[in-house]
Amino acid sequence: MNERRALFPASFDPMTNGHMDIIERVLKLGVFDELVLAVGENPEQSSLFSVDERLARLREVVADLANGHTILVRALGGLMVDFARDIGATAIIRGVRSPRDFEYEAEMGFLNHHLAPDIEMVFLIADPRYAFLSSTLVKQVAQMGGNLEGLVPRVVIERLQSRVATSSGVSS
Ligand code: ADP
Repeated sequence: MNERRALFPASFDPMTNGHMDIIERVLKLGVFDELVLAVGENPEQSSLFSVDERLARLREVVADLANGHTILVRALGGLMVDFARDIGATAIIRGVRSPRDFEYEAEMGFLNHHLAPDIEMVFLIADPRYAFLSSTLVKQVAQMGGNLEGLVPRVVIERLQSRVATSSGVSS
């Protein structure tokens, strides 16, 4: 297999314009032939959307984004580096919004490098327009009935609004 494949793992619960920006910028780098978006569970957060729902939404949104690139969408299983190796990815993409993100990402990056030195961790600094944006924040805005325009893709807005209307609560 000669394709240069990168993995971008995230919870995508829901996907935000910050995730979209990272995806677009990775593709624009022109370093990778294929980008695999892997939907994982964050054990520190209870989820609003099921993994299947998140996969479906991602597929819908990235169809417009691909622009000749190959973007694959998968459920993330097991250790991130093992998953990366299984799918033939040589790099793992992460976004860094803040010193706090950096601290967490560096810790995870060192561990990943220890476990799999053949897989590079690639960090993209967040676009300042989205540096404040997180899925948790988006869920809170949705729950309070706030304006979601500019925070998440349009198809996600409707889903979020109907989900928070039917769910009893949003946890972070
Ligand atoms: P997780 O819960 O697995 O951390 P997230 O979706 O919150 O999932 O984050 C996954 C990755 O996406 C992380 O590397 C995070 O820094 C990055 N990311 C999330 N939101 C943004 C954003 N607004 N700008 C840049 N990167 C982001």
